Amino acid sequence: MDRYYVLGNPIAHSRSPRIHSAFAAALGQELSYEARLVPMEGFAREIEFLKQEGFRGCNVTVPFKEQAFRAADRLSDRASLAGAVNTLSYDGGILSGDNTDGEGLARDLACLGVPLEGRSVLLLGAGGAARGIVASLLLGHPRRLHIANRTVSRAGALADLARSSPMAGSCDVSSSGFEEAEGDFDLIINATSASLSGEIPPFPGSLLHEGVFAYDLMYAPEDTPFVARARSLGAGAADGLGMLVEQAAESFRIWRGVRPDTADLKDRLRQEMRRG
Ligand code: NAP
Repeated sequence: MDRYYVLGNPIAHSRSPRIHSAFAAALGQELSYEARLVPMEGFAREIEFLKQEGFRGCNVTVPFKEQAFRAADRLSDRASLAGAVNTLSYDGGILSGDNTDGEGLARDLACLGVPLEGRSVLLLGAGGAARGIVASLLLGHPRRLHIANRTVSRAGALADLARSSPMAGSCDVSSSGFEEAEGDFDLIINATSASLSGEIPPFPGSLLHEGVFAYDLMYAPEDTPFVARARSLGAGAADGLGMLVEQAAESFRIWRGVRPDTADLKDRLRQEMRRG
C-alpha cells in the first residue's frame, strides 16, 4: 500500500489525514496517510526516514516549508517563486517539491465565483502563505496586484519578486504598508496571521464595501474577525477552509494522477468544525 503523511510541529490539529482519507475512500484508492510530529531540529533526519521507509510523499506544514524547499532535488516553478514547499514526492530516488497553496486558493475562488482576470487585487501579508499564492494570483491575469504588509520592506521584496517573474505578464504590481494601501480593489485577500490573535490588519476601512470580495486564508468554526468585518460592511467574504481542501486535492493529484471532487468534503468539514 502506498504511504503518505503530513509533517509539522505542532501537528495534532491537522485535518490533512481526514481529508486525504476521504479522497482515497471516494476514489476507491488504497493508501495510508498519517500525521507525524517532527522535532524542531529534526527535519533532515525526517527526510532520511521518508526515503528509507519507502513513503511516496508527504505534506509539509509550519515551520518546515522552507527547509523542505531546500531539501528538494527538483522544484516546480510555483515552489521556486514561493521559496517554500508543502508537497514532497519521492520517486526513483528523486525528491520533488511543489507548493499547492496558490492552486488551492485559485480553485476555491473559482468555486466561489470570484474572478481574477482583469481585476484589482489587494494582498495583505508577505509571509510564507502570501509568497505561496502570488504565482497563482498572477496566473489568473489580474489587472493590478498590490501587496501590503506590516513590515513594508517584505512587501516590497515580494512585489519585486512577483514583478520579475515570468508569470507577471502586464499586471501592475505595487507594494506599501497597510495604511497606505489605496485603490479600488475587487478582491482583498488576508494572508496575514493577524486573525490568530483576533486582529484585523489596519488597512483603510473604506476599501471594504459592497461589490468587493474579502478572502481570509485563516479558517475557523465562526467568522474570523476579517470575514465578520467584511460582511458587516456589505462585502462578500469567505474563509480559507475551501483553500485547505483544494490544496490537499492538488497534492493528491500530484501523487495519484487524479483530482478528487472537493465540494461535498468542504460542506462536511464545515459542519464538523461547527459541531466542534
Ligand atoms: P507567516 O509566514 O508567519 O507570516 C505572517 C504574516 O502575517 C506576515 O506578513 C506578518 O507580517 C503578518 N502579521 C502577523 N501578525 C500580524 C498582525 N497582528 N497584524 C498584521 N499583520 C500581521 O505565516 P503564514 O505561513 O504566511 O500564514 C499566514 C496565515 O495563512 C495563517 O493564518 C495560516 O493559518 C494561513 N494559511 C492558510 C492556508 C489554507 O490552506 N487555508 C494555507 C497556508 C496558510 P510581518 O512580515 O510584518 O511579520
